[in-house]
Amino acid sequence: MKKSSTTYWLLFLITFACLNCSKEHPASDNEKDFNGCLGYAAGYKNSGTVGSPGTFTFKEAQNNKFLAQEVSIQRNFWNQVPATVSLLFEPSDAYRNAYALANGNIYFGYYLFYYMVNRFSVISPNEVSPLPVDGVLAHEWGHEVQFRLGWANYANNTERELEADFFSGYYMGLEKQWYWKQIQTYYTAIYSSGDYAFSSPNHHGTPGQRLNAAYTGLTTAVYEINNNVHYSYNQLHDIFRKNLEYIYKHTYNTTSLARDDNGGFKEVRYSRPVTRELIDRLKPTL
Ligand SMILES: [Zn+2]
Repeated sequence: MKKSSTTYWLLFLITFACLNCSKEHPASDNEKDFNGCLGYAAGYKNSGTVGSPGTFTFKEAQNNKFLAQEVSIQRNFWNQVPATVSLLFEPSDAYRNAYALANGNIYFGYYLFYYMVNRFSVISPNEVSPLPVDGVLAHEWGHEVQFRLGWANYANNTERELEADFFSGYYMGLEKQWYWKQIQTYYTAIYSSGDYAFSSPNHHGTPGQRLNAAYTGLTTAVYEINNNVHYSYNQLHDIFRKNLEYIYKHTYNTTSLARDDNGGFKEVRYSRPVTRELIDRLKPTL
C-alpha cells in the first residue's frame, strides 16, 4: 500500500512558534471575534495581513514548496470547486488560525502553519508528517465545497464544521490513502488541543464528534476505492447527513481502533493499489 506508518514527507524546519503560547487575546477596541474558520473579516486590528494569492513566503524554501504542492494537489482533487489559497499573516501567534471565505479565498495562517508543524508534525529533527497541515487545508476546502454547492440544510454551525472534518477525512483516504491509525494520531491531537480555535463545541463539535466525522469521511473514501463506486458532492453531503446521529452520539477511546459502543474505531483496509487514474476517476463531481 502506498502509505505505511514509516512513510512521511521530509521537511526541514526551524523551530519558530511558541508551543505553549496562551490563546488569551489582548483587549482592544477594534478587535473582532472571528468565530472559528468561517468568520473572518478584514479591517480589524486582529485581521492580520493577507499575502499575495498563491505565493507562500515562509523563511524556508522547503515549506513554500510543500504548501504550494499541497495546494496544487487539493485544487485538482476538489474538482470544480476552485479556491485561492493565500497566507494570512496574523498579528501574533495568539491569533493563529485558518479561514474559508464565501468568495473562494482560503487564508492559511502563517503562525498556524508553524504551530501545526512544530506541535503536531515533528517525528524527528528531519522528519515531519504533512498530515496536520494537509488536514487543515482540506477542512477549509470542505467549507469551499459547502459555499459552492449552496447547502443550507444545517441545523447549526457545528454541523457545517463537522462536515468540513468529514471532507478532510475523505480527502485523506481517497487522495492520500492514509490509514486511520495515522490520521487519528494527528487529528486527535489537533482536535483535543484547544488550538486551531476550534475546541468549542458551539463552533466545531467536541473532539470525539470531530473524530467521528473524519472517520466517516475516510471510510466513505475507502468504500469508494474498494467498490469502485463514485460519489458526487451532493451524494457525499447525503452520506454525511445520514451519519450525523452516529457522529453526534458516539464517544471515542483514543487507545482503541475498534469503532463501536466499546469506543474507538476499526482500521480501514485498502483492497487494491490506488492509481492516479483511479483517484481522478473517483474524485467528487458537481
Ligand atoms: Zn471550519
